[in-house]
Amino acid sequence: METTVDIVRRYRKQIAVPGIGIEGQRKLRNASALVIGAGGLGSPALLYLAAAGIGRIGIVDNDTVDLSNLQRQILYDEADQGALKAVRAAEKLHALNSTLTIEPFPVRLNEQNAAEHIAPYDVILDCADNFHTRYIISDECSRSKKMLVHASIHRFEGQVMGLCGDTAPCYRCLYPEQPADGLILRCDEAGVIGVLPGIIGSMQAAEALKHVLGAGIPLAGTLIVFDALTMQMRRFTIAKRADCRCCGT
Ligand SMILES: [Zn+2]
Repeated sequence: METTVDIVRRYRKQIAVPGIGIEGQRKLRNASALVIGAGGLGSPALLYLAAAGIGRIGIVDNDTVDLSNLQRQILYDEADQGALKAVRAAEKLHALNSTLTIEPFPVRLNEQNAAEHIAPYDVILDCADNFHTRYIISDECSRSKKMLVHASIHRFEGQVMGLCGDTAPCYRCLYPEQPADGLILRCDEAGVIGVLPGIIGSMQAAEALKHVLGAGIPLAGTLIVFDALTMQMRRFTIAKRADCRCCGT
């Protein structure tokens, strides 16, 4: 059992931040987050959520570690090749912070199991690498009014959005229909610089922590586009569409 002394020893630097304190640290301890996709985006997101002390963390990923993942998926090393990412990620997070409850789900999220996986968590991080999963996550978060922190990466550019929850638009408000298979390249086909998911996945973790703490300005209804080539970040407001077939009226 974690005592107040243990909490202060581990999280001293975070507790010292004005507006967090021991009360904020307890909020994190009592919070839960589900990370869908334990790859390039999921690696830094999971590491920072666990290090920060989010009390219960779920990891959904049915993939196994491949040598070509190591250029960007910093949770894993050479010895992990062939292992299930969800299981290996859970072991690494437990080694980082054994006070947490880490729940690995080595399954592929689909229309049938999305609700049961998403329902038990406070905030959902979409770290998936394909459109099919993105629409499933957004549709379920919209239906259940869960706060969703979505991200995607492409070559030198990354996007982060705050979606769903009580009032924010859903992914379909921006992109109503799923692109046909093969029309848009996945990150592993289009290529991506390894540090980019590190930056963007860390932004997802920051937004999830802010959401739990009630700190700052929520990203809900906002799209951030980060370009590593120019180091510029652009910000766009996303409107909820009245005719959205998922969240419209
Ligand atoms: Zn919508």
